[in-house]
Order: sequence, then C-alpha cells, then structure tokens
Amino acid sequence: MTDTKCRVCSKDGKFYGLLFKCSNCSAVHWDKSKIKKKYNKIEKNSPEWNLIKETILKEAETPKSKGHYVYTLRLKSKPNYLYVGLTGIHPYERYLNHIIGHKASKYAKKYATALIEFEGPMKYNIAEEREKSRGNEWRADGYTVKGAPT
Ligand SMILES: [Zn+2]
Repeated sequence: MTDTKCRVCSKDGKFYGLLFKCSNCSAVHWDKSKIKKKYNKIEKNSPEWNLIKETILKEAETPKSKGHYVYTLRLKSKPNYLYVGLTGIHPYERYLNHIIGHKASKYAKKYATALIEFEGPMKYNIAEEREKSRGNEWRADGYTVKGAPT
C-alpha cells in the first residue's frame, strides 16, 4: 500500500520514485516496503546493493551533499518520539541508509516513518552544536528525542 498523503500534516504530495515529498510541509518519507522488496536477498554492500541505492536516490532526485546537515525523523515506537541526527550526506540518503541498515541507529531503522525536516548545509562544528540545540528544542516542545546528545 502506498501513502499518497503526508504522514506528518496529511496534505497531498507526490512520489519521486520511492520518495514521497509533501507539497505543504518539509516532510518526506520513503516507501519502506518497496525498498525492502528491492533489497530482498541482496548482499549488503555488494556492487548490486550499491547500484540499487544509486538508482533509488537518482529517481528520488536526491541532491548531492554540500556540507553537514541536522535532520529530524519521526519514530512510530511511541507517540512524540523523534530521532535527531547529524550527517555529512544529504538527509534523504541518510534516511534511506537508516532503512536499509547502513550505519543505522536501531531506533531509526525500526521506527522511522518520516523525515520531518532538515537544516543545512553547514560546517561540521556548527552542525554539531545545532544537533544538540535542535534536540533540546524538540525536548522543550514535549518530544522524547533519540540520537542528539543533551
Ligand atoms: Zn506535510
């Protein structure tokens, strides 16, 4: 089953390959079940595994990274659970990596249902500070945040 509504704001959006982009807010989500089907019985980090990833990213029109980013994933483990992370690759790719188990956080791999937002590109040291402060902002708003240090 393919969602045609944003998982965060419930408004319409559009699929770019396997990536849904909301037309109303900054949220995106990967079609996890289709991605898992593509990776069925493919050996991790094999040439074929990498080729599948390249194709998925290209079809989703994922931009190249231009620095470091701070990103927030929505987790479905419990209400109001989020994952905040720092990455040197584009957050769409980072979110895909979480799904396919490449350098994945166990929370993000199992429970991520949407990338709510990201900030960047920015320099690493700024992103490091921003990861902390973004995590704390979400905490102040009543969310439980995994990933970002306090
Ligand atoms: Zn939305």
